[in-house]
Amino acid sequence: MNLILLGPPGSGKGTQAKLIVEKYGIPQISTGDMLREAVAKGTELGKEAKKYMDAGQLVPDEVVIGIVKERLQQPDCEKGFILDGFPRTIAQAEALDKILEEMGKKIDAVINIQVPEEEVVKRIVNRRTCKNCGAVYHLIYNPPKEDNKCDKCGGELYQRDDDKEETVRKRYKVYKEQTEPLVEYYAKKGILYNIDGTKSIEEVFAEIDSILQKLA
Ligand code: AMP
Repeated sequence: MNLILLGPPGSGKGTQAKLIVEKYGIPQISTGDMLREAVAKGTELGKEAKKYMDAGQLVPDEVVIGIVKERLQQPDCEKGFILDGFPRTIAQAEALDKILEEMGKKIDAVINIQVPEEEVVKRIVNRRTCKNCGAVYHLIYNPPKEDNKCDKCGGELYQRDDDKEETVRKRYKVYKEQTEPLVEYYAKKGILYNIDGTKSIEEVFAEIDSILQKLA
């Protein structure tokens, strides 16, 4: 099962991807996570990407396309994969089609998680992430049991540099301008599924799961 999770920043793509991983055993490919890892390691790629990420802008297409192409060729993607945060532009979507075609694969479903701007801002400014395992919390809706400590692994929680309100609004604008056209792109291919992302984590997952069960 080859999936794409589409939706604005803060729509719950990462959270839902982790639930799909648990249930279906296919890997999550998050370009945001891969770029943050490169930034943390201080690699050349990380240094280049950080400038764009801190400004709430997209990293150049050729950079992310290269990372995804390499990742899709890893053996754990043979049974399927969940793309989270990629593609984000029409050029990326076209490049992905080409990469998959060369590999004799295709996307089975694009899950579009819809959440309005004000809700996104409310969610993201209260978002905290585990430094160690990447688990995501919300200080009001899904708080950790102990302050600043991950329930799953005990790791320290932190606020992403790009999760400040001003940057979040910029990222939402970038989403509207550059990523939303993908909704139409995949609708035309007949593989788009729209989901109301304002519901609870469990309700959203139940809807996604019912779509995936029909595909499996
Ligand atoms: P995310 O964790 O998906 O919200 O991504 C965080 C940041 O990483 C974005 O604001 C971009 O700067 C960069 N990024 C992640 N995925 C992509 C992508 N597919 N294309 C361009 N930039 C990306």
